[in-house]
Formats: sequence, structure tokens, C-alpha cells
Amino acid sequence: MSSTSPKQNDTAQNNKIDSFLDQELRPTTWDEYVGQKNTKDNLNILLKAAKQRAHPPEHLLFYGPPGLGKTTLAYLIAHHTNSQIKTTSGPAIEKVGDIASILTNLNPGDILFIDEVHRLNKSIEEVLYPAMESGSLNIIIGKGPSARTLQLELPPFTLIAATTRISMISSPLRSRFSGGIYKLEFYSEEEIEKILERSAKILGIKIDKDAAKEIAKRSRQTPRTANYLLRRCRDYAQVHGLDLDEETVEKTLSMLQIDKIGLTRADLTILKTIIEKFGGGPVGLNTLATALSEETGTLEEFNEPYLIQLGFIERTQRGRVATELGYKHLGIEPPADLQKKLI
Ligand code: ADP
Repeated sequence: MSSTSPKQNDTAQNNKIDSFLDQELRPTTWDEYVGQKNTKDNLNILLKAAKQRAHPPEHLLFYGPPGLGKTTLAYLIAHHTNSQIKTTSGPAIEKVGDIASILTNLNPGDILFIDEVHRLNKSIEEVLYPAMESGSLNIIIGKGPSARTLQLELPPFTLIAATTRISMISSPLRSRFSGGIYKLEFYSEEEIEKILERSAKILGIKIDKDAAKEIAKRSRQTPRTANYLLRRCRDYAQVHGLDLDEETVEKTLSMLQIDKIGLTRADLTILKTIIEKFGGGPVGLNTLATALSEETGTLEEFNEPYLIQLGFIERTQRGRVATELGYKHLGIEPPADLQKKLI
């Protein structure tokens, strides 16, 4: 994931560590892939139509906060279409030569998955445009008047890209995702419970229903976080010789300083800072990040989406504002002029 400050906050750190463990729990069939009904329905039609035409599916872009299942979807599509998947990420492609080498090594029907596609630089994007549009690779050889363009035909392939920062994707790049741009949604508690049940089975963890419910409530509506918390509760139960019941979940999560609705210390500090240091806002992202000694990217990518999803903060044109619900969660009386700030 994207670079974060040395003082990475809890959520960012957990996401990073956990992505190494994602693989064993990654769903391998559409039935195991819980939720995201609308995206799944659309993809189903797109994949069927492509199969009938005996052509690789068109290029796809998935976006949404970390851990919602973007990479998993790319792997499922590869599985479903019997394709090889080659994965890379925006920051790993540094030079035009890197992307040229990736593209020329593709076989017909391959899927190229580029994670964190918002971090591709402009010159790489420009190589991708003709590759995505007409399957050709244009490379400029030499410099000055003697420079010439070499054009190579690429095998038919599907580019699947993922991003946590859709606003950073340039419109020329967006317009090349001819198969569509899909937003992944947060999951309901019931969906997270279903994911937890399956994960517990795979990991051989005995967990009772109430315990799964309690973990689901505190999972930020995010499968990766749910799986992470399940493993931490398993560790706690194991070390203390306990059953994994509701009480064990309560003890584990209070040790991890995760509150009743899944907010971490870092989330609460952000909310508190907006309210106490900036009078509830509006406060610009840069100012807020400086006050918290955090990077703007970390706030935007890891903390804000869930705080916004809960309705605790809002993004307005003039900056971030704490809402009535946000004030109430901290037990602070909202100011009388709150509505004006939210416009
Ligand atoms: P992203 O690419 O959006 O950061 P991933 O696809 O890597 O997220 O998902 C993280 C983990 O969460 C996966 O390994 C998987 O275990 C779990 N997961 C994600 N989406 C789902 C889903 N819809 N159903 C079941 N498990 C899921």
C-alpha cells in the first residue's frame, strides 16, 4: 500500500501486516465472495458476454478503501476465465522500460493486475493508453530529429486496476477502462459474520455466534479487518486457555484499543482534533494532517472513509467538519451553528 509516515497509525499498520496473510483466506469462488451484489451482477454479464465472443473481458477499474476485496475480485476473474494473472503495482513500475517489458511478456488472454494504479507516473500512463485502446505498444527510440516510434502489436489482454484514491486517476486513464469502473461498498454486519464463519473454518478456529457478531460490529465493515481481529482473538484465547466467546472478544479488543464500533485510537484522535483544536471544522486536510503529525494520504485512505461512512465527519468544500453524530460519540454537545458549517 502507499507510503505512510514513520508514525504510522494503527489502521494503516494493521492493513499492511495483514495483507501478507490475506492469501490463505482469499475466496476462490463467486459464492464465497460475500456481498458486492451489484458489482458481481455486472461482472457476471460482462464475463459471460466476453466468453461468448471468445474475447478477453474489457479493462476494469475497482476502487474503494483498503481491504474491501478489490484484489480478490481480480483473482476471481482470472480463475473464472481460466487466465493467468500477472500482478504489479503503480509504485513498482518506475520506468517506461518496466511497463514495456510487462506488456510484451503477456500471453494472449492474460490478466494484468495493477494495484495502487493512482501512483503510476504520467509517462507510464501514456504508454498504457494505446495499449489499452488498440493493443499496441508505441516506444520512442532515440532522441531529437532522429527519434522514431516503434510500434508493437500486443496480444489481447485485460487490464484490471485497483485504487483507494479514485480522485487521483486522470480522466484520460479513467476513460480507457472500457469494461467499467466499479465502486466497492462497505459490508453489512451480516455479510461480515458470514466471512468470519468461513475464515474460522479455514483457520480451524472454534468461535461462538455471539463472538462472531461482536467481531463483526467492530470490523469497520471491512473483511480484511474482520479476519485480522479474528486472528487476534484466536491468539488471546489460545494464550489464556479460553474459549473464543463474546467475553474473549471484549478483552482482546479492549487490549487492542478498538472501541464498540471499531474505531481505533487514531480515528478517535482525528475526531477529537477536529472538534477540540479546530472548533469542529471546517479544517483543511493539510492543516489537519500537520496537527496530527500524519500524512494526508494515510488520513484520506485509512481513517476518513470509515469516519465518513459512520456519518461522524463530512468532507465539505472548505474542509472536514465533525457532525452531530461525531460530537455525540465523544459525549460532547454539538455547537448551535453546526448546520451552517456543514454547507
Ligand atoms: P483490497 O484489494 O480491496 O485491499 P483484498 O481483496 O486484498 O482487498 O481483500 C482482503 C481480504 O479480505 C481477502 O484476502 C479476503 O480474505 C477478504 N475478503 C475481501 N473481500 C471479501 C469478500 N467479498 N468475501 C469474503 N472475503 C473477502
